[in-house]
Amino acid sequence: MDAEEFRKRGKEMVDYIADYLSSIDKRRPLADVEPGYIKELVRNEAPVEPDSWEDLMKDIEPIIMKGTTHWHSPHFHAYFPTGNSFPGILGDMLSDAIGCIGFSWASGPSCTELEVVVMNWLGKMLSLPPEFLFSPNGHGGGVIQSTASEVTLTCLLGARTKFIRQIKGDNPNMEDGVIMSKLVCYCSDQAHSSVEKAGLVGAVKLRILESDAKGSFRGATLETAIKTDKANGLVPFFVCATLGTTGCCAFDNIKELGPICEREGIWLHIDAAYAGSSFICPEFRPLLDGVEFAMSFNFNPHKWLQVNFDCSALWVKDSRLLAEAFVVDPLYLKHENEGAMPDYRHWHIPLGRRFRSLKLWFVLRLFGQRKLQQSIVKDVNLAKEFEKLVRADTRFEVTSEVKMALVCFKLKGTNEKNEKLLKLINDDGRIHIVPSTMKGTYYLRFAICASTTTIDHVIFAWNVIQELANKV
Ligand SMILES: *Cc1c(COP(=O)(O)O)cnc(C)c1O
Repeated sequence: MDAEEFRKRGKEMVDYIADYLSSIDKRRPLADVEPGYIKELVRNEAPVEPDSWEDLMKDIEPIIMKGTTHWHSPHFHAYFPTGNSFPGILGDMLSDAIGCIGFSWASGPSCTELEVVVMNWLGKMLSLPPEFLFSPNGHGGGVIQSTASEVTLTCLLGARTKFIRQIKGDNPNMEDGVIMSKLVCYCSDQAHSSVEKAGLVGAVKLRILESDAKGSFRGATLETAIKTDKANGLVPFFVCATLGTTGCCAFDNIKELGPICEREGIWLHIDAAYAGSSFICPEFRPLLDGVEFAMSFNFNPHKWLQVNFDCSALWVKDSRLLAEAFVVDPLYLKHENEGAMPDYRHWHIPLGRRFRSLKLWFVLRLFGQRKLQQSIVKDVNLAKEFEKLVRADTRFEVTSEVKMALVCFKLKGTNEKNEKLLKLINDDGRIHIVPSTMKGTYYLRFAICASTTTIDHVIFAWNVIQELANKV
């Protein structure tokens, strides 16, 4: 394919994408295929001679779209949203074209410097404390990583290195392995599974502590666990608090957890993967109060801020603590301007990094802060409308407070009844939702996902649910 053909095919592809996204509501949101379906539809070997563009495009609908779950359908109400927008797609297209591997300032000056700028923009939109932002004399700043999972691991490893060094300072002969065997970190039973994974990969003890009746991680619970662990000779070093849990969108009490972490010298990390986007709205920003106690804060613009996957935003107060965990400096990566700008390879595990700030920049510029705020508020209001519909049907109950664009609800009665309803809904296929459990109770989660969702889609979904509930 030469540039002339690319010009032509590129326009065709843009047309296909525009058609796909503007008629996506006509498709069944959940793919209707069995595992292994694709193997039956494609050749066993890659073609030796090139296929034609036409032949390739002919396969998109019957092979690819047939097995696609349409996350951007306004009938998709499962999990949490994943961002998507035309500006985001276009920004990513340019990033693909530049195709740099911006591990150091020298390997991609614009890649590094735009990221510094947009992470400060975004940090200011959230009113993060200034210690989290890049400033001439500070050590704070933001970095874009792939996922919240990767970020939690990165911060846990930063905290682990900090504690190993501290303890070694007093006990120079102590082996790293011996120190690690004493380290312990904490999260609640509502934290995302990626926190457990970070503990596994980081090879440290993790205590999963009980949340309160609303699913919130409270100070007294942490206090008790720390006391017990210290009495047993262990060293508490890291707490992961969640703002907007995946199960029911509960908020951990960071105003209680924060001062405890500060007193104990524990690294507090805040995972706000989903709900973080809402903090750009003044009415939701109070939910972030207490962030000043944290060492690191993360949310995913690729969830609820119209940015395409992957774009997970992390801010730290002291980036040197990440660098201490991750610096390895072979000669071939060195350059003569080191120190003036961040060399982002020291801020995370991978060396290579995409020009992800471009899509964020496109989204922030072409939407502007006000439109992004309005979109969040619209989604929360739609969730409140859905909540009203649920509450008006006496067969149902709402199981958690609706703070963001997620409604947790169930049929009154047994878990089995609700498992049956969920199966009816997803077999029916007009809408897609997923369940969760809390403290033994099974419930259904209704999330406003696509940014194109309107009140009509919400009413449609509720009608489907009511109709199927008649069959339970
Ligand atoms: C979605 C989510 C995650 C995982 O996000 P990834 O970016 O896919 O790793 C972690 N924590 C919370 C609270 C989430 O909602």
